[in-house]
Amino acid sequence: MKINSSRLQAHFEAMSLIGKIGETGTCRPAHSLLEKGAFDLAASWMKEAGMTTRIDNFGNLIGKLKGSNDFLPVLMMGSHLDSQPYGGRFDGVAGVLCAIEAVTTMQENSQATERSIEIVSFADEEGWRFNKGLFGSRGILGKLENGELARVDKDGISREQALKDFGCDVTRFSESEYKAGSIYCYLELHIEQGPILDIANRPIGIVTGISGPLWLTVRLTGMAGHAGSVPMQHRRDALLGASEIVVALNEIVTQIPGNPTVGTVGTMNVFPASRNIIAEEVVFTIDLRDIDLARRNNYEEQLRKKIEQVAQKNQLSYHISEDTNSEPRYCAQWLKELIKKQCMAMGLNVPELMSGPFHDALTLSYACDYGMIFIRSKDGISHNPLEYSSYADLALGTEVLYRTIIGILHKDL
Ligand SMILES: [Zn+2]
Repeated sequence: MKINSSRLQAHFEAMSLIGKIGETGTCRPAHSLLEKGAFDLAASWMKEAGMTTRIDNFGNLIGKLKGSNDFLPVLMMGSHLDSQPYGGRFDGVAGVLCAIEAVTTMQENSQATERSIEIVSFADEEGWRFNKGLFGSRGILGKLENGELARVDKDGISREQALKDFGCDVTRFSESEYKAGSIYCYLELHIEQGPILDIANRPIGIVTGISGPLWLTVRLTGMAGHAGSVPMQHRRDALLGASEIVVALNEIVTQIPGNPTVGTVGTMNVFPASRNIIAEEVVFTIDLRDIDLARRNNYEEQLRKKIEQVAQKNQLSYHISEDTNSEPRYCAQWLKELIKKQCMAMGLNVPELMSGPFHDALTLSYACDYGMIFIRSKDGISHNPLEYSSYADLALGTEVLYRTIIGILHKDL
């Protein structure tokens, strides 16, 4: 291996001390002093790798290795250094630190580049502080929405204030935006955050794309009544209907064994929520994801039919609202092939898998071709201090990333 795995491990260990909670946990809120501390540390390593660094007006940390031709669109890599409030040491961090190690290795091996290379630690990927994520990556692409700066965190601090405190000038966002065509491609290494690689006993996977979630809210309305006196055949029990739909969703998404489709009912509010009253109204959410949009649409149709049937059977009225409907975004074929080529040369057998969670790559996919490398997550655990990826796996992934960059730069020649 060309990359330095002990240096990589030392960087992870040093980074894990910033915002450390408990033995293995991390809490680094977006735009906070802790994130600033993480930026300072990462920036010091970027500088060691020969990069110049800056923090833009969205609160992104950007390291740049200047190529000999500054007019060429940049090769961008990155992820994020903010964490969940009760998060682990690897989510996001891996994408930034492994990219720094790859560029450091380039320098050590005197790999010159015509194209500039940038590593970005995107601001507020996680989204919990202001209830909206992918802030920095949307920012640089001019995709912020109205009212975003007015959003407040639990302490009443607005996004605008947090950015100002971080040293950003919110009146000069446009100076931090990237023009169309200025990013050649984007690479993100990330921990899988799911169990597929761990179950398959493979250290690394190639991502096919980021699945698009469909978020629905379903409201079922029946009739309240005394749990002791209303005979079963006369009931209009909204919770019974909701339960049938929960089971039906599970059956619909698992009808073809092995498919990556996932469907989840994660919240349910029951009214009036009394042990001796038949539920009059139930509101629940549906999260449906698939890398294949046609199949997801088909399953949505099946689900809507089922809701209609269940409502009729239980004499309920219903209302479905759509909260989010994002399309799947596919990784570029040429980048998948290039990553695979490096893996094969290293004797790695790498499965392809989709990403259920979002990443900054989802935003970047609208601006350029993108590729993603997944690192095995122990037991699939993430957004939890127990999140773990071994340093051996991270080193392998970094080597693949390094060789992929070299492959892209050689492709340029
Ligand atoms: Zn992440």
